[in-house]
Amino acid sequence: MRLKHIKGAEEAIAVNEFVVHDAKERPGKWHELFGNDHPIHIEIGMGKGQFLMELARRNPDINYLGMERYSSVLLRALQKMEEEPLPNLYFLCEDAAELPEMFAKEELNRIYLNFSDPWPKARHAKRRLTSTEFLARYNQVLAADGHIEFKTDNMDLFDFSLESVEEAGWKLVGCSRDLHHDPTMNEGNIMTEYEEKFSAKGNPIYKLIAVR
Ligand code: SAH
Repeated sequence: MRLKHIKGAEEAIAVNEFVVHDAKERPGKWHELFGNDHPIHIEIGMGKGQFLMELARRNPDINYLGMERYSSVLLRALQKMEEEPLPNLYFLCEDAAELPEMFAKEELNRIYLNFSDPWPKARHAKRRLTSTEFLARYNQVLAADGHIEFKTDNMDLFDFSLESVEEAGWKLVGCSRDLHHDPTMNEGNIMTEYEEKFSAKGNPIYKLIAVR
């Protein structure tokens, strides 16, 4: 998601109470932030935050983190949080490539990836959030019984992701090539901003769930 750069976005984020500014000093200490021992789920590349805010509303006993590397995009989520603060949700303006510097082993219980950038050029494959390089990073921070959930409307990216899951030795526990017409996989589905946009155009939505 690219938004026109919003002047002052970095400054606004730097002082925002819903943003964690010292993520790299928190490995092993994230529960202190929430003040409880509830599981921690993260969405990487959360965009404007619609999906995560609805999850946080529905599941007060789960702690949520939203990671988005572009400040102009994150700012939109912060504006929504100001209208409706949720005690179990915080944001990080960070690059997911640095995940292992922010979390201790097994500190995260679930990772959501929604409509991640496709990086179509082969030479950029390592940047895809479902590449084996990224799966190795998730492996370092995800609890033994944790899982990743990935949704996209991009068939090529989905096929690439299925291959990486296999290559990395992860196991597929859920897979749909038309999520919205798959009653089991679609149960309780929360649509993201991109999911609303692309499914309205008639694109099928792909989803996979993988464990190690
Ligand atoms: N999840 C949202 C937005 C999808 S667009 C939705 O489904 O509507 C993908 C988002 O991921 C963009 O906003 C982009 O800035 C962010 N992103 C991509 N790579 C990232 C990375 N390495 N670390 C953090 N955010 C990333």
